[in-house]
Amino acid sequence: MGSKAADVLILGAGAAGLMCALTAGQRGKKVIVLDHAEAPGKKILISGGGRCNFTNLQTAPQNYVSSNPHFCKSALAQFSQHDFIAMVARHKIPYHEKTLGQLFCDESARDIVAMLLAECQAGAVDLRLSHQITQVEKADRFQVTTDHGLFTAPHLVLATGGLSIPKMGATNLSHRVARSFGLRIVAPRPGLVPLTFGPQDLAWMCALSGVSLPVKICCQGRPKISFEEALLFTHRGLSGPAILQISNYWQVGESLEIDLLPGLSNPIEGLLKAKQQSPKASLVKSLGSWFPARLAQALVAHFLPPEAGERSCGEQSDKTLRRLADSLKAWQICPTGSEGYKKAEVTLGGVDVKDLSSKTLEAKQVPGLFVIGEAVDVTGWLGGYNFQWAWSSGFVAGGV
Ligand SMILES: Cc1cc2nc3c(=O)[nH]c(=O)nc-3n(C[C@H](O)[C@H](O)[C@H](O)COP(=O)(O)OP(=O)(O)OC[C@H]3O[C@@H](n4cnc5c(N)ncnc54)[C@H](O)[C@@H]3O)c2cc1C
Repeated sequence: MGSKAADVLILGAGAAGLMCALTAGQRGKKVIVLDHAEAPGKKILISGGGRCNFTNLQTAPQNYVSSNPHFCKSALAQFSQHDFIAMVARHKIPYHEKTLGQLFCDESARDIVAMLLAECQAGAVDLRLSHQITQVEKADRFQVTTDHGLFTAPHLVLATGGLSIPKMGATNLSHRVARSFGLRIVAPRPGLVPLTFGPQDLAWMCALSGVSLPVKICCQGRPKISFEEALLFTHRGLSGPAILQISNYWQVGESLEIDLLPGLSNPIEGLLKAKQQSPKASLVKSLGSWFPARLAQALVAHFLPPEAGERSCGEQSDKTLRRLADSLKAWQICPTGSEGYKKAEVTLGGVDVKDLSSKTLEAKQVPGLFVIGEAVDVTGWLGGYNFQWAWSSGFVAGGV
């Protein structure tokens, strides 16, 4: 097994790695991509329920979490959602907007992988799968040792993603290699992930497993970052887009504040009216126009003392009704943790952006070393933003 030389060596044939490869290849660079998986773009294939939410029409820097919120601006501007949409359109891939600017393939995520591979081919990219990477060093060039021999290049791009879904082959290779070259790492943690709760909360929430409702959610005391999306009760705790979104911002020990009636500014008015107009109806019934019966019952039981649930609406004191209305508008609950990398769509943290150029994604102190995609401390909201970061950062590094 002799050594193979390239202009650009890319570790990882995922979203960011393929984008980087096709860009560099089409600019005339000799590109080799190494991946330990037997197929490229496996996360693309399972994304968006198999239809890949490949970008978001509204992509903007504020949709990203990073220790430096300005870092992503340059890459997103150099290759925007519109640039990626143009590529999708050029390949005649049918797509649609589902909700909130989220673009999905009409047919299959396979269309996106096929497009990236066709573009790689147009750039004569040499894609090597099922390669185990055992060592990465730098002498006059970068040297990557694999079970299929040695690969060398003056440019090395780390694109092996984050730690989410280890059973799909996720590893911390990019973090380890970056650290070995002296780059700092912002502690990684699971993002876009369901949150878990203590036994007391679980006891009543479990019974609601499968119930979903629109809410507005924020971390308590930090109302500036909030999401209006669906919340889902599960047998393990809370999930749904609202929870996944806030999980990117939630810190251990913090409570969440959930508005269960985001479309209603003064639910107390409705409750007082119900007390007047249908005094004989149960309190649960008077919540019937807002919530499914099962949820209404559980909320009354959770927010009010047991005797309140037994009394009719007309028998409730105004104070009790006010307490219920306040709780429905600002339910406070403290998660104990998350479901972890097994269920997380992304990894927060990663290679510290302080050590990378925002214009090129090249390491400031290690010429020729680039880090892109999810391995970098830039994490998007749910809704196509993470792929857009992969495309944008991949494109930028592909300009080597
Ligand atoms: C279930 C699920 C659904 C998702 N849906 C969406 C969605 O609809 N929209 C969206 O924007 N984002 C979505 N995401 C997030 C998105 O998939 C990632 O943010 C994106 O794939 C990151 O791109 P990447 O190239 O950095 O990493 P990846 O796409 O993860 O690619 C990394 C590559 O590196 C390879 N690799 C890893 N370790 C090694 C190693 N040690 N040696 C060799 N190769 C290695 C892997 O095999 C893989 O091919 C989803 C994630 C999950 C888990």
